[in-house]
Amino acid sequence: AVHWCPFLQTYRKQKYPWVQLAGHQGNFRVGEQGTILKKLCGREEICLKKLMNDALKPFVPEFKGRVETEEGEIYLELQDLLAGFDRACVMDVKIGLRTYLEEELAKAKEELKLRKDMYEKMVQIDPSEPTEEERSLKAITKPRYMVWRESISSTATLGFRVEGIKRADGSSSKDFKKTKTKDQVLAALRTFTHGYPNAVKTYLNRLMDINSVLETSEFFASHELIGSSLLFVHDMKNANVWLIDFAKTRRLPLNVHISHRDPWQMGNHEDGFLVGLKNLIELFQELHKQ
Ligand code: ATP
Ligand code: MG
Ligand code: MG
Repeated sequence: AVHWCPFLQTYRKQKYPWVQLAGHQGNFRVGEQGTILKKLCGREEICLKKLMNDALKPFVPEFKGRVETEEGEIYLELQDLLAGFDRACVMDVKIGLRTYLEEELAKAKEELKLRKDMYEKMVQIDPSEPTEEERSLKAITKPRYMVWRESISSTATLGFRVEGIKRADGSSSKDFKKTKTKDQVLAALRTFTHGYPNAVKTYLNRLMDINSVLETSEFFASHELIGSSLLFVHDMKNANVWLIDFAKTRRLPLNVHISHRDPWQMGNHEDGFLVGLKNLIELFQELHKQ
C-alpha cells in the first residue's frame, strides 16, 4: 500500500503528513525545514549534481547535498516537493517504454533458473497468460516476467504508467498495475483532479514547459532515463509537476545518441521518455476539454 505518512513533516511551522507513493519504506526520512532525505544511491547523486547546473534545474527537486545520520547512514537531502501545499493531492507517474535497464534484462537472460514465484505473480494477475509449457512447469523465466509486466500496464504502449495516487481526503491507491488503455488512464487522471478546477490547466502548462526545456537540456541529451517519474502535486490553490528518481538514469555510452522517441531494441538505449510525455500531455488536453 501507499506509505501514508511515514512521518510528519514541518515547513514554516506548519505540520503536514508526508506521503511516499513508491519505493521501499525506510528509504526516506524527514529532513530539516522543507527537505526530505532519500537513502544514498551514488549514481543518483551524480545525476542530481549535474541537474543543479542544467536547464532542467527548475523542474527537479533542489539537491542540497549529503547528510549522515547518527547511525552513520548516508542520505541525499532533497527539496520536499510537498512543502507549501495545503492538504496535497499527489500522483507518481513512471515515464518510459520500459522500467528496467538493458543490463538488468541481459543479466536476467543469463540466469537460467525457472522462477515459481514469478509464475505465481503472473497467474494472480492473468491466469490465461502462461503458455502450456509454463503451465506444466508452474514456472517462468525472469526475462519473460520482466517483459510481460511492462505489457499489462500502459508502459509498453503509452510510455508511462501511474504508480500511485493519493487524494486530499487520504484515500490512496497503488492499484494501477493493469491500468493500460487511454480510457483507463484518463479515468485515473480524472479521479486525481476531480474537484480542483484549476489543476488540469496548470499541469498542462507545466508539462508543456517540461517538454520544451527537455529539448535544450544537455543532461537529457546525454542520458538514458529509466524508472524516473513525474511527481504531480496540487491543492486548491496550486499545482506543479517535477521530475524525480534518477537511480536508474545512466550516461549514454560515447557515440550513442538517442531520440527518446524511437522504439527500443536491445542495444539502442532508447527510453521512450518523450513518447510518454507526449501521450500524457494529450490525455491532460483531453481532460481539459471535458
Ligand atoms: P522506486 O524506484 O520504487 O520508484 P525510489 O526508492 O527510487 O522508488 P522515489 O521514486 O525517488 O524512490 O520516491 C518514492 C516516492 O517518494 C515518490 O513516489 C514520492 O511520493 C516521494 N518523493 C520522492 N522524492 C520526493 C520529493 N523530493 N518531494 C516529495 N516527495 C518525494
Ligand atoms: Mg520512483
Ligand atoms: Mg527508483
